Amino acid sequence: MKLYLDFEPCQECNTMMKELSSPEMLFADEKTRSDESAKFLRHLTYNHNEVVQAVMEDLPKQKKDQEFEFFK
Ligand SMILES: [Zn+2]
Repeated sequence: MKLYLDFEPCQECNTMMKELSSPEMLFADEKTRSDESAKFLRHLTYNHNEVVQAVMEDLPKQKKDQEFEFFK
């Protein structure tokens, strides 16, 4: 699942996003990658609650759009 977030990343966010998209991470095993993503999500939950809020509000909307596409 891809999320497009519109928010102001802090220093820590930038570091983690860089780590997540680094070549080392791209070739890391599944567990390391999911650990890193979980760490980032946890940081978002605690430090950028507005992002989590926005994602939660956006999810049902996205699902509806998909269903609409399906029935067209
Ligand atoms: Zn941050």
